[in-house]
Amino acid sequence: MTIVEYGNDILVFDCGFQFTSEEAAPGIDYIIPNTKYLEANKEKIRALILTHGHLDHIAAIPYIIDKIGNPPIYARNLTNIMVQKRAEEFPHMPTLNLNNVTPGEKLKIGEFHLKFIDVTHSIPDAMGVSVGTPFGNIVITGDLKLEHENGIPSDKEQKNWGEIAKDNNILLIADSTNVEKPGFSIPEKQIMENLENLIKNIDGRIIIGTFASQFDRMIKIIQIAEKYNKKVVTEGRSIKTNIEIAKLAGILIPRKDTIIAPKDIDKYPPDKVLVLATGAQGEEFAALMRMAQKKNKFIRLTKKDTIILSSSVVPGNEISVRKLKDNLYRHDVKIISYQVSDVHATGHGNAGELAWINTIVKARFFMPGYGNHSMLKVHAELARSIGMKDENIVVPDNGSVIELREKGTKIVVLKEKAPSNIVMVDGFSIGDIQEVVIRDRQTLAQDGIFVVIATIDLSTGKLRKSPDIISRGFVYLRESQDMLQQARRIVKTTVEENTVGMRPINFDIIKKELSDNVGRFLLKKTDKRPIIIPVVLGV
Ligand SMILES: [Zn+2]
Repeated sequence: MTIVEYGNDILVFDCGFQFTSEEAAPGIDYIIPNTKYLEANKEKIRALILTHGHLDHIAAIPYIIDKIGNPPIYARNLTNIMVQKRAEEFPHMPTLNLNNVTPGEKLKIGEFHLKFIDVTHSIPDAMGVSVGTPFGNIVITGDLKLEHENGIPSDKEQKNWGEIAKDNNILLIADSTNVEKPGFSIPEKQIMENLENLIKNIDGRIIIGTFASQFDRMIKIIQIAEKYNKKVVTEGRSIKTNIEIAKLAGILIPRKDTIIAPKDIDKYPPDKVLVLATGAQGEEFAALMRMAQKKNKFIRLTKKDTIILSSSVVPGNEISVRKLKDNLYRHDVKIISYQVSDVHATGHGNAGELAWINTIVKARFFMPGYGNHSMLKVHAELARSIGMKDENIVVPDNGSVIELREKGTKIVVLKEKAPSNIVMVDGFSIGDIQEVVIRDRQTLAQDGIFVVIATIDLSTGKLRKSPDIISRGFVYLRESQDMLQQARRIVKTTVEENTVGMRPINFDIIKKELSDNVGRFLLKKTDKRPIIIPVVLGV
């Protein structure tokens, strides 16, 4: 989420999820933007503008929109349909005020004059926005790449960006996702030609694994299937949902009998069927893994099947993708992945494309956006290498406040940040105070849990019986009888030493001493720090 503020007006750009990794935050589903600053300045918010329909740009709306006063939303058609579709899963949300905009259209909101730029990304209806202020324009690219041939941007790109170049642009905020890759990214057109060749020439059944967010590709694959008289089976909820959305938006109009139910798959010869499936990242419960593990009721893999993994491996998913491939290969299928053939291209421009955009927009100042901090720094370096002055580049961090001063001739990063501590969605609860919970989950995952139950005779302060010990995920207790005996002795001495002369017996003190002493002992013995839960009963 990025916000632009001038005088009494605030525009909010995008409202997405950040996906978390299981190791970093076990059990946490998503991270959403911290909106404390916006909540405090609610009356200034004029609009929420969405650059495109990917989850990292729209998915936090149901958690946030109420808190920021449900402002009008401006986006292109497909994006609005996706927002609406998601809203249906959150019945308690207020009714959204959705407004369609189109590139070329000009819109005045508060003091701002907005222009919308048609950009190329992996989902249709993606846009950049040029925000006209009294001092000049701020250009926000959204996620994008360039349509090009051998590094020469298409006429469409030249025209769209040429239009923006005419303005007095004071600041460019641009996508940094792929800045570490040199040159120009592979055009999607080329990927589709390769996929078409494969679909045309492969004998036997074809199963394509891809991201449901690769809207354009998903639609074109269905169109190619129709061209070669193949039926399409879709597997995976996100693909089904996005096909529904594409139909609603009118960008996919399949023939009535193209998409068939999985149960009918054997009614057609294998070379007349194409399966579109989720799970190319090796996700445990997604369609591809289920097929690989023989859990799909209707699709049984055989050596006549070809599986095309039309996606890259998202960093962090290497091990699960490897596991997926292992499981698929156990069925002797053929696998075609992006490492051996161009069956995937990114939706984000490489360094060459970003340099081209930077040069044409000619903004006085530059701020790399969208990406991890390291990518932002590399993007700043790229801007320097094409001639931008160091003092004209700012690299923000989450919560940074950038001020354009003196009629837009000076740029400053304020020392003070907007509230930006992490806000997490954990099942049904949302909050920013769950670090303790996360830490516990990490400890549980790594070192397990160790429960000691001590029953104290309230009159004597002695244990009534030998303490009970329960543990999970720590060590195999049956093979650790010695250690258990010692732990029991520690529990006994800890209790009995502390209850001497203590009447009434203070359970809190006993519990704390038990945690400390047992914890220290287990660490020494095993080099592990399980979560210790002392349970003290008085009888
Ligand atoms: Zn995107």
